[in-house]
Amino acid sequence: MKICWEMLHSEEHWAIILRSRILRGSNCIQHHIFSSLWSGMKNEYNIVKENTTWLVGDGKLINFWFDHWHGEPLSETLNVPADQANSFPPKLCSYFHDTHWRIPEDILQQFPSLSLLNSQVILPTVTKPDKLVWNLNGTGILTLKEAYDFKKHHFNKVPWAKIIWSKDIPPSKSMLVWRLMLNKLPTDENLTPRGCLLPSMCSLCNRNEESSFHLFFECTYVINLWRWFASLINKQLHFQSVTDMWTICNGSWNP
Ligand SMILES: [Zn+2]
Repeated sequence: MKICWEMLHSEEHWAIILRSRILRGSNCIQHHIFSSLWSGMKNEYNIVKENTTWLVGDGKLINFWFDHWHGEPLSETLNVPADQANSFPPKLCSYFHDTHWRIPEDILQQFPSLSLLNSQVILPTVTKPDKLVWNLNGTGILTLKEAYDFKKHHFNKVPWAKIIWSKDIPPSKSMLVWRLMLNKLPTDENLTPRGCLLPSMCSLCNRNEESSFHLFFECTYVINLWRWFASLINKQLHFQSVTDMWTICNGSWNP
């Protein structure tokens, strides 16, 4: 989270290069790239974006349409479709000269309210870099401690965690289910995006591609196991998703 924050505004080479690789207009890329830095921070990208605001400087780092620099992003307040906004110049510095807003005439005709920027946003008289501000503290700087505290209070609590980490279940099995729930098992489905391009086949039925859901809920082999288990606890079991597994524990039965 902290390094994601640095990546968004640092002028160091690593940040400039990474931004050019992963930012595409309004969003970050969704496809896999070989970058240990990016793989560790991509889940934090939206969190950092949602909790930061840009203070306008030279406008070189700020995306005029999609960044938070004037309240909510202009693409949202003006209801500009992403495709259309991506066809306009992205950087905020393209929309002013010296200390005056210079919105291109064709854009102003489509969005007349942009003329209000003249009275609403005073541009800095001294040239300085744009500044990214963390909204949730007084200093505006996201320190490692702030990031830790944020994660501590915003970490998603999942109802099944208590069931998995029961002292009655061997830790290796708890870990297996934990990884299954987070979709972190090394199945073909998860290894392929990391560059392991192998033909995928379930080793239980030799018919379908291997995915976590198939291996644990969909494969004919495991369906028979679930049927046997359902007969033991006298329940009907139907799984549309991995989390449906916990409906078993909603009744009187508990692992
Ligand atoms: Zn199978």
